[in-house]
Amino acid sequence: MDIRKTRTCERCSVQTPLDKVRLIPKSQDKNVLVCMDCAEFLKKASMSRVSDITLKQPPIKNIYAPKEPLKPFVPKELRPSPGQKLKEVPPRQMFCSRCKYEFTVKAAVKVCPYCGRDDKLVRKS
Ligand SMILES: [Zn+2]
Ligand SMILES: [Zn+2]
Repeated sequence: MDIRKTRTCERCSVQTPLDKVRLIPKSQDKNVLVCMDCAEFLKKASMSRVSDITLKQPPIKNIYAPKEPLKPFVPKELRPSPGQKLKEVPPRQMFCSRCKYEFTVKAAVKVCPYCGRDDKLVRKS
Protein backbone atom coordinates (compact mmCIF):
# COMPACT_ATOMS: atom_id res chain seq x y z
CA MET A 1 0.00 0.00 0.00
CA ASP A 2 1.33 3.39 -0.97
CA ILE A 3 1.79 5.32 2.27
CA ARG A 4 1.33 8.64 0.52
CA LYS A 5 -2.24 7.65 -0.27
CA THR A 6 -3.18 6.96 3.31
CA ARG A 7 -4.14 9.19 6.20
CA THR A 8 -4.07 8.53 9.92
CA CYS A 9 -7.49 8.56 11.54
CA GLU A 10 -7.44 11.28 14.16
CA ARG A 11 -9.70 9.23 16.38
CA CYS A 12 -8.43 5.64 16.30
CA SER A 13 -5.01 6.29 14.65
CA VAL A 14 -5.62 3.70 11.97
CA GLN A 15 -3.88 4.14 8.61
CA THR A 16 -6.75 4.69 6.23
CA PRO A 17 -6.67 4.81 2.41
CA LEU A 18 -7.29 8.33 1.14
CA ASP A 19 -10.59 7.37 -0.51
CA LYS A 20 -11.88 5.94 2.79
CA VAL A 21 -11.04 9.01 4.83
CA ARG A 22 -13.83 11.35 5.91
CA LEU A 23 -13.73 14.91 7.13
CA ILE A 24 -16.10 15.37 10.03
CA PRO A 25 -16.79 18.88 11.40
CA LYS A 26 -15.57 19.01 14.97
CA SER A 27 -16.35 22.64 15.61
CA GLN A 28 -17.35 25.61 13.49
CA ASP A 29 -13.92 26.07 11.90
CA LYS A 30 -12.23 22.74 12.63
CA ASN A 31 -12.63 19.35 10.99
CA VAL A 32 -11.30 15.98 12.02
CA LEU A 33 -9.87 13.47 9.57
CA VAL A 34 -11.25 10.07 10.49
CA CYS A 35 -11.66 6.63 8.99
CA MET A 36 -15.07 5.52 7.72
CA ASP A 37 -15.90 3.59 10.89
CA CYS A 38 -15.17 6.59 13.06
CA ALA A 39 -17.03 8.88 10.69
CA GLU A 40 -20.08 6.65 11.05
CA PHE A 41 -19.66 6.56 14.82
CA LEU A 42 -19.33 10.33 15.12
CA LYS A 43 -22.29 10.85 12.82
CA LYS A 44 -24.51 8.57 14.92
CA ALA A 45 -23.22 10.10 18.13
CA SER A 46 -24.04 13.63 17.04
CA MET A 47 -27.42 12.51 15.73
CA SER A 48 -28.35 10.67 18.93
CA ARG A 49 -27.27 13.68 20.92
CA VAL A 50 -29.66 15.84 18.92
CA SER A 51 -32.50 13.35 19.19
CA ASP A 52 -31.92 13.02 22.93
CA ILE A 53 -32.52 16.72 23.33
CA THR A 54 -35.60 16.75 21.14
CA LEU A 55 -36.98 13.65 22.85
CA LYS A 56 -36.47 15.02 26.33
CA GLN A 57 -38.23 18.31 25.73
CA PRO A 58 -41.74 17.18 24.69
CA PRO A 59 -42.30 14.92 27.76
CA ILE A 60 -41.53 17.88 30.00
CA LYS A 61 -44.19 19.87 28.20
CA ASN A 62 -46.58 16.92 28.47
CA ILE A 63 -46.05 16.74 32.21
CA TYR A 64 -46.78 20.43 32.62
CA ALA A 65 -49.70 20.38 30.20
CA PRO A 66 -52.11 18.43 32.45
CA LYS A 67 -51.32 20.83 35.27
CA GLU A 68 -52.41 23.85 33.23
CA PRO A 69 -56.13 22.96 33.05
CA LEU A 70 -56.19 22.93 36.85
CA LYS A 71 -55.55 26.66 36.98
CA PRO A 72 -58.85 27.67 35.32
CA PHE A 73 -60.53 25.83 38.21
CA VAL A 74 -59.09 28.31 40.70
CA PRO A 75 -61.32 31.18 39.56
CA LYS A 76 -64.22 28.72 39.81
CA GLU A 77 -65.54 30.83 42.66
CA LEU A 78 -65.86 33.70 40.23
CA ARG A 79 -67.97 31.70 37.80
CA PRO A 80 -71.13 31.19 39.91
CA SER A 81 -71.19 34.83 40.97
CA PRO A 82 -72.34 36.22 37.57
CA GLY A 83 -75.03 33.53 37.53
CA GLN A 84 -75.98 34.28 41.12
CA LYS A 85 -76.14 37.98 40.41
CA LEU A 86 -78.53 37.35 37.54
CA LYS A 87 -80.69 35.20 39.79
CA GLU A 88 -80.46 37.65 42.64
CA VAL A 89 -81.85 40.51 40.54
CA PRO A 90 -85.33 40.78 41.98
CA PRO A 91 -88.22 41.53 39.69
CA ARG A 92 -89.07 45.19 40.02
CA GLN A 93 -92.52 46.56 40.01
CA MET A 94 -92.57 49.48 37.59
CA PHE A 95 -95.27 51.92 36.71
CA CYS A 96 -95.53 53.91 33.51
CA SER A 97 -97.24 57.21 34.35
CA ARG A 98 -97.58 57.96 30.65
CA CYS A 99 -100.01 55.15 29.99
CA LYS A 100 -100.85 54.20 33.59
CA TYR A 101 -99.46 50.73 32.97
CA GLU A 102 -98.00 48.69 35.76
CA PHE A 103 -95.55 45.88 35.07
CA THR A 104 -92.60 43.97 36.47
CA VAL A 105 -89.11 43.92 34.98
CA LYS A 106 -86.24 41.52 35.55
CA ALA A 107 -83.83 42.74 32.91
CA ALA A 108 -81.52 45.72 33.23
CA VAL A 109 -83.25 47.50 30.37
CA LYS A 110 -86.51 48.87 31.71
CA VAL A 111 -88.98 50.17 29.22
CA CYS A 112 -92.73 50.21 29.35
CA PRO A 113 -93.93 47.22 27.35
CA TYR A 114 -97.01 49.23 26.45
CA CYS A 115 -95.48 52.39 24.97
CA GLY A 116 -91.88 51.25 24.71
CA ARG A 117 -90.63 54.36 26.53
CA ASP A 118 -88.79 54.79 29.79
CA ASP A 119 -89.06 58.54 30.43
CA LYS A 120 -92.18 58.27 32.58
CA LEU A 121 -91.31 55.09 34.41
CA VAL A 122 -91.67 55.03 38.17
CA ARG A 123 -90.08 52.36 40.23
CA LYS A 124 -92.58 51.09 42.73
CA SER A 125 -90.51 48.42 44.47
ZN1 LIG B 1 -11.00 5.75 13.00
ZN1 LIG C 1 -96.07 53.32 28.97
